Amino acid sequence: MPPIKAVRGVRDILPAEARRWQRVEAAARQTFEAYGYRDIRLPLFERTELFARGIGDETDIVKKEMYTFADRSGESVTLRPEATASVLRAYIEHGFHVQPKPVRLYTLGPMFRYERPQAGRYRQFHQANVEALGETHPALDAEVIAMLLDFFGALGLADRLELHVNSIGDAGTRQAYVAQLREYLTPVQDRLCDECRVRLTRNPLRVLDCKTPHCQPIIEKAPSILDSLSPEAARHFESVRQCLDTMKIRYVVNARLVRGLDYYVRTTFEVLTGELGAQNAVAGGGRYDGLIHQLGGPADPGIGFAIGMERVVLLLGEDDRPPAPLALLIPIGEPALRRLMPVARALRRARLAVELAYGDRKLPRELEHADRIGARFAVIVGDSELERDQCILRDMRTREQRGVPLERLAIELAPGQAHDES
Ligand code: AMP
Repeated sequence: MPPIKAVRGVRDILPAEARRWQRVEAAARQTFEAYGYRDIRLPLFERTELFARGIGDETDIVKKEMYTFADRSGESVTLRPEATASVLRAYIEHGFHVQPKPVRLYTLGPMFRYERPQAGRYRQFHQANVEALGETHPALDAEVIAMLLDFFGALGLADRLELHVNSIGDAGTRQAYVAQLREYLTPVQDRLCDECRVRLTRNPLRVLDCKTPHCQPIIEKAPSILDSLSPEAARHFESVRQCLDTMKIRYVVNARLVRGLDYYVRTTFEVLTGELGAQNAVAGGGRYDGLIHQLGGPADPGIGFAIGMERVVLLLGEDDRPPAPLALLIPIGEPALRRLMPVARALRRARLAVELAYGDRKLPRELEHADRIGARFAVIVGDSELERDQCILRDMRTREQRGVPLERLAIELAPGQAHDES
């Protein structure tokens, strides 16, 4: 029988890599919690309507990337392609809007998009997602951006990344800009790629985001959205920038940063890397005032971002060394095994990583095994040690060994650590 393989575009995260994931997740939780964000855990699938309404019918995500299916009752459900719509659905459903503002929430987990798989782009991928809800002050925009950079700083990645910021104005000014952009692009549409010609009719703003080389000269000469901001939106952006400046945060103002989701207004931002080829966005976000209302909730504003966890893990590189146990406990024979089982358990409860052999192999083979797994110590108990309730503690590096009473083993293995006598 041929073995069954994983589905295209999804990947297994094997133990060596999972250690890096744990570092990334811990950095996210610690950073976000220091800024007052609280963990929220949401379902992986929702009613399809939520994403259609929340993300926008004309976005790539809703048009062609969603995993949508009818469940057994015939209801259309969708594996979440992003988290913001779900967070806002929960915010409305559980009446979070009565809490002190801003309501700060974060969530970590998988997203699903039917995209063309390539390095750094998968059909199941993971995001760290942050949302700050109920506050319009530009200082919040800057604080959210600062927190995003602090997350990368905690992982030692800050110097390898570039922050881009933009303002795409309010809904009204954006419409005027889109009309202006369409006017500029229409006469030159023959020189655009096929996809951009479609975007030109459906969602011209997305042309600015195109990566095709021969579209670039046209995009570069396009009118800047920053020139058509309303006075309020311009003031807001100016203030965000001043706040970033006071925190000494370096950024590039990139008027072509429009993002792939329809719901953004005013501030948008992305964190980019030059190290991952075409998949250069490691994180992105922006303000989405109006979206909560559009989803049937109060007229509360919001701002948030998503970090692409796979890309962060890729940037961290492959320096994973398999974890080695502190000690291999080697009983010689069944009675010694019985004596060492509670000892091993007590050590593990004291958070010491030890491995216990089964007592059915000769000592030289077990010592070889201790070497292979990288154990720092071997703890040997044969008949004569058992009689005196002792063990032989062998340093695997120096090969020195000495007798130690079993009750003192934890202290000998980890001096300086507090040990529970029980
Ligand atoms: P978005 O939700 O599209 O704004 O994406 C936010 C971040 O998620 C991006 O900057 C990427 O780092 C990451 N991301 C988006 N789509 C994928 C994907 N298909 N595979 C891996 N990472 C992704």
